[in-house]
Amino acid sequence: MVVDGTGTVRQPWIDTAGATAEAADRSGRPERTTDPAPAGICILDLDGHETWSNEVLRYSLGYSAEEFAAMPCAPSATFAHRDDRGADPDRFARMVAGEVNGFATERRFTCKDGSTLWVAETVSLVRDPGGNPVQAICVTQDITESKRPDFDPGAVPDFDPRAVEERSHLQVEQVPAVVYVAEPGPNGTWFYVSPQIEAMLGFSAPDWMADPSLWLQQLQPQDRESVLAEERRLLVADDAEDPTSSQTYRLRHRNGSTVWVRDDAMMLWDKEGRATWHGVLVDVTREKLLEERLEHQAFHDPLTGLPNRKLFHDRVGHALSRRQSGQVAVLFIDLDNFKTVNDSFGHAGGDEVIIAAARRLQACARAGDTAARLGGDEFALLLEDVTTEQVSEFADRVLAALSEAPVEFSGRPMPMAASIGIAIAGPGENTATLLRNADLAMYEAKLQGRCRHVLYEPSMHATVGSRSRLGASLQTALSDDAVSVAYQPLVDLRNGAVVGIEALARWTDQEIGEVPPNRFIPIAEESGLIHKLGFWAIERACRDLRKWRSAQGVDAYVSINVSPIQFDNDQFANSVVRVLLDQGLKPSDLMIEVAEGALLVERSRQSLRELRSHGVRVAVDDFGTGYTSLSYLSRLPADLVKIDQSFLRPLGDTSADPALLRAIIRLAETLHLATICKGIETLGQLSDLQEAGCFFGQGTLLARPGPLDEIPATVDLVSRTPARPRFVTGERIAAPASG
Ligand code: C2E
Ligand code: MG
Repeated sequence: MVVDGTGTVRQPWIDTAGATAEAADRSGRPERTTDPAPAGICILDLDGHETWSNEVLRYSLGYSAEEFAAMPCAPSATFAHRDDRGADPDRFARMVAGEVNGFATERRFTCKDGSTLWVAETVSLVRDPGGNPVQAICVTQDITESKRPDFDPGAVPDFDPRAVEERSHLQVEQVPAVVYVAEPGPNGTWFYVSPQIEAMLGFSAPDWMADPSLWLQQLQPQDRESVLAEERRLLVADDAEDPTSSQTYRLRHRNGSTVWVRDDAMMLWDKEGRATWHGVLVDVTREKLLEERLEHQAFHDPLTGLPNRKLFHDRVGHALSRRQSGQVAVLFIDLDNFKTVNDSFGHAGGDEVIIAAARRLQACARAGDTAARLGGDEFALLLEDVTTEQVSEFADRVLAALSEAPVEFSGRPMPMAASIGIAIAGPGENTATLLRNADLAMYEAKLQGRCRHVLYEPSMHATVGSRSRLGASLQTALSDDAVSVAYQPLVDLRNGAVVGIEALARWTDQEIGEVPPNRFIPIAEESGLIHKLGFWAIERACRDLRKWRSAQGVDAYVSINVSPIQFDNDQFANSVVRVLLDQGLKPSDLMIEVAEGALLVERSRQSLRELRSHGVRVAVDDFGTGYTSLSYLSRLPADLVKIDQSFLRPLGDTSADPALLRAIIRLAETLHLATICKGIETLGQLSDLQEAGCFFGQGTLLARPGPLDEIPATVDLVSRTPARPRFVTGERIAAPASG
């Protein structure tokens, strides 16, 4: 990120003409920077050598940190433009001699890719408390844009030295980050701190420097140990190859609020062996809070606020690992006849029942028990240190509490009851087995007439349709053409155009009936059948796309879900590219959808990088449902983020604030990732999205998944929009349609 001459923050890796992030990647730039400082900053020793530089400076020049560090001589000598080298060597010498406090200049750098970067550079001298020069801080602003084509490169402006001094200090002081030079140690002297410390922490720079104990006082106690340990590490390793440190920690503002800062610093040693920190503190509180909210969202059900399936699994795992004498039990609770409630009272009524069930379950739970919503109308309870009799009594209490009184909705009573399966962990049993057993017991309770609890017994495996039988049926179904693909439109929310279609596998078994993908995909993954099924789906979808496009006369892409197991095949990327060639499609006609988790595995990342190098695009599916660090998002090999339905305003909730949704869209935009929001079911959700600036969406309100020949080329948005659409104007995100 660099400030241009007009003071506007611009991100040089984003092609403002609308080129994709891919194009930017191909220009040879290293990975995107998330450094929020809007200027290049570096620290120079008194010989003019860079001793520290921020990511922004390196990024604008196109170098990675490793390349920068490996430069044989001072980087400024390497990238100074040929014609500007040695333009005014006296200035630096005069400043080092203490004659002036700084100077400013405009000059050119040659970037790694050969292009020229014009910068306004200001250099300020830093002195120790005795007034002796110790080093210089250099701030660069990108002014390339402001240079007209007829600019005379020889005309380096002359400066009034006093104005120059003022300007150079002003430059450091305008960086919305705190630049500092300080002695190490909990009560080390602060030699310099820029005035932004006041905006960040409420203390003026002179107050801060006058009291060396302030930093430790304001450092959050929970972070003290790690921050001081990092300092000790660098102090001990005085010959370390990498004397830099990058830490994120909390400081207390003078008004008592918490400020998250990222502290990028370098420890330098003078000839007498004294160490000094040179660093930049950037306020990252907003990013951190967003990350915390995302994390909470990833582990909690948005409708009820209860822990979700993922967190419940974790808790059961912990309970099993720490169990000693007492038993660990899981109650799997499924509401009875929930579908009827939904059909008769609509989604809003269904939501009321779910919320009431969650409250009643929580009221039954003792301190230390975990009540969770696993999804739909399924809940679970984890009980620790209990006897079999206690579990049974507990299940009776839950059944009584749930059916105690009907839930009122619009003045009408909605009945509520549940079936409960109980499993008690046997020796050496793991989480998956315990939950599966509780699930089997719950099915048995349904079979026995509902509204009861049943304790798991091993014989239940035989009575309830086993997964292996389902696996065998799926194998046959694939060979017999009983598996098909449905398509759901991905819609431009500004004009209703269908920009892409998502391929969704469908299977109807002759005996069992329709088996949902959430049931058969895990079975295919377990059995390895996913390789065959996945490849079949890609071939079928590519063939169908060609057919659909020529029938509709539109240009759109097909998006396909890929399971992480498919990346185990190191020929995956090659086979996909071959299918595209065979079907006469361009790589950009295909989007691969992967879950966040898949992107953490290096093998998957490798396949995705390979596919992207051909031009196939990658979407992160269900964004926000796995653990995603925001800083990690900037490094994902992806082009698009599919925002999970849970970020949409819950059905019927008119008071909810879609701020989190807006924050994600803005963040994705900053990282040049397009966004599609999934699961749009209501007009309220559609208008929230339009207001939040999300341009693409998918959901039953727009179009349900269906057979290829029923997929429209446009969706009529007007009849779905209650009032005049409040579209955000401007093309801020490249359309995900194929280019
Ligand atoms: P997904 O990738 O999240 O696909 C979207 C799912 O949301 C689809 O469920 C779709 O029918 C459903 N949906 C669409 N609009 C709405 C809406 O407005 N509200 C709600 N609540 N749901 C909506 P479906 O078809 O049951 O697929 C479930 C999952 O199975 C998919 O989730 C995907 O992860 C997986 N899947 C489907 N086909 C394949 C495949 O060929 N390969 C792999 N690996 N996974 C697949
Ligand atoms: Mg998907």
